[in-house]
Amino acid sequence: MLSELDQIEQKGLQALETIQDEASLEGWRVAHLGRAAPLMLVFDQLGKLSKEERPVIGRRANEVKRALEAAYSNRSNALRQSALQRSLQSERLDVTLPGRGLPIGRLHPATISMHEVVRSFADMGFQVYRSSEAETDEYNFGLLNMPPHHPARDMYDTFYTSMPNVSLRPHTSPGQIHVMRQYAPEPIRAILPGICYRYEQISARHETQFNQIEVLAVGKNITLGDLKGTLSDLARRLFGQNMHTRFRASYFPFTEPSAEFDFECLICGGKGCAVCAWTGWLEIGGCGMVHPIVLQNGGYNPAIFTGFAAGLGTERIMMDKHRIEDIRYFWANDMRFLEQF
Ligand SMILES: [Zn+2]
Repeated sequence: MLSELDQIEQKGLQALETIQDEASLEGWRVAHLGRAAPLMLVFDQLGKLSKEERPVIGRRANEVKRALEAAYSNRSNALRQSALQRSLQSERLDVTLPGRGLPIGRLHPATISMHEVVRSFADMGFQVYRSSEAETDEYNFGLLNMPPHHPARDMYDTFYTSMPNVSLRPHTSPGQIHVMRQYAPEPIRAILPGICYRYEQISARHETQFNQIEVLAVGKNITLGDLKGTLSDLARRLFGQNMHTRFRASYFPFTEPSAEFDFECLICGGKGCAVCAWTGWLEIGGCGMVHPIVLQNGGYNPAIFTGFAAGLGTERIMMDKHRIEDIRYFWANDMRFLEQF
């Protein structure tokens, strides 16, 4: 029986040497140390042995069992180590590589320009008044001295909505009526920023949507000089003391007299280019003294009150400031353009 135990030990250890993975290791454990293993049968037979044989065989059987258990645990450790080595090799991770940067959002150039203009007006004591982008025909045109037959409506062709009589505002001027009706007869010094919409032939200077800032001042003794001073001061605040501006007589139904005002074209330095239509000047907006009928529609007595109004294109200002040659860049969503601001 002792030689049988020697064989059991030898076979077990030999078999263990060929084991290369966890599954066959478990199979080995069941075969050599499990309940039905030859070694366990030896233990079962101890009771049947003589008094003299029992301690000798028992001791040897225990030795074999400990030897097999020790070899099993060594093999198991070795297998786990080599598995770890393999995974370290195959899933190599370089912790010194710098991480991927998250893109950080920023303001759209049109918004940046809007903020700059709003800040300049705020410094001059103007308050921001918010107004709606969809307006009724009455607010878009009628109350601004443009009755349905008025030919000036042609200049403000815009987009209709599915609601009858409601269209997207072609200018921020309908807000004039809202702000006047809210504050009359108090004096007003307000700006109304926002997006406007036109059915335009898109070109380097014209887009179907653009930001505008409406400027409105209503009070006693307000003159054309105040209008000119305010807009010229705006140009100096935005572009510095040497910035040139000019006013050209024009016509709008809701102002009388009316003018268009230009900033010097910084894209060509006044020499003339495609953006300024070879004039050396960039048209920034229209302006004028609020028409008496509009004042009246807003709730002010034109015999006592006067006022001035202007509408500025903030993208045009941004174009002048950064020498941007085409207004279409603003809404084309090209990151190569947007990331420069
Ligand atoms: Zn130019």
